[in-house]
Amino acid sequence: MKKYNFSPGPANLSDSVLELTKNNILEYKDTGISILEISHRSEEFQLILHQTKENLSKLLHIPKNYHILLLQGGATFHNTFIANNIEHQKSLTNLITGSWGQNTYEDFLKIRNTNKILLKNEQIEEFLDNQLLKAHKVSDYMHITSNETIEGIQIRDFNKIQSNLIIDGSSDIGSYQFEWDNVAYLYAGAQKNLGIPGVTLSIIRDDFIKQNNNSVYLNLKKLVEKDSLLNTPPTFSIYILKLVTDWMIKEGGVSYFEKQSIEYSNLVYSLLERYDKYVSIPVESYSRSRMNIVFNFKNEDYENLFIKESLSNNILGIKGHRNVGGIRISLYNSVDEHMLKFLLEFMESFFKKL
Ligand code: PMP
Repeated sequence: MKKYNFSPGPANLSDSVLELTKNNILEYKDTGISILEISHRSEEFQLILHQTKENLSKLLHIPKNYHILLLQGGATFHNTFIANNIEHQKSLTNLITGSWGQNTYEDFLKIRNTNKILLKNEQIEEFLDNQLLKAHKVSDYMHITSNETIEGIQIRDFNKIQSNLIIDGSSDIGSYQFEWDNVAYLYAGAQKNLGIPGVTLSIIRDDFIKQNNNSVYLNLKKLVEKDSLLNTPPTFSIYILKLVTDWMIKEGGVSYFEKQSIEYSNLVYSLLERYDKYVSIPVESYSRSRMNIVFNFKNEDYENLFIKESLSNNILGIKGHRNVGGIRISLYNSVDEHMLKFLLEFMESFFKKL
């Protein structure tokens, strides 16, 4: 029985992607072998890699002076990878708006110096409008987490920040358009908007890539020179990334998903606001994530009942992260109209009977 997957990741995949995957697991094109068995040096895989990068460039409007790398190790590996590849003499700041940004800061500090700016969700808008920025030293590079998956806090206007950004875009990549002007490095695990775990996408501006003596898998320049094929890449995860990006282009690209996520998240947030007798939303409206909607019941018994009833209604993955509790509904790109309608009806009928 098909369930409705609203989990924070690994996330829901569109049915058309699953259908194609199913066929190609049995046999990929006319190769006589499964996509799971295919060599990363084969012509077929070279084509998959090439087309995946083309899809990403097209969807995200990646300028010519950026390189695309597809690595293993998840977004977590990037804490180590990036800290080892930023030139030592460059200054760095971590802008922290939630748990993932905090983790990155702590990992960076084990490897190199960095400054920290800690922002509460209600300070983000003011910060972006440059009021607070003036009080801080502007660094050569600033790390941000564009969407804090656990707390449901998003910084979509990061183009306003006057620093070269290093962005963890794991949980909102491909859901809105932005300019590349102040982006030096963007990385994202694929398992939310772009596919399944196992591959992490990096998009790196030319001038960030410097020669160093790092060991092989920490050596950004070598990995770029070998075009993601320095060692065996996660072939199957890359293949799914290709299918998901094909699907995204067919649906209408990032602008289509941006419109969808505005509409869907507005519907859920406004329903919650209508029932503010029972629930509260901890994030103020400017910084509310369109990907992960976090809220709390004022009465804990209702919260437990909500989770229990969601499960018996085949809705999966909406229990909040263990560190913050509450409820978290993830509305990634693959959540379609039917799923959303089902969710809204469930929520509305739950609140009505309280
Ligand atoms: N950053 C963000 C914003 C995330 O949501 C996650 C995972 N949920 C991570 C980093 C860690 O990613 P990974 O599990 O791929 O290492």
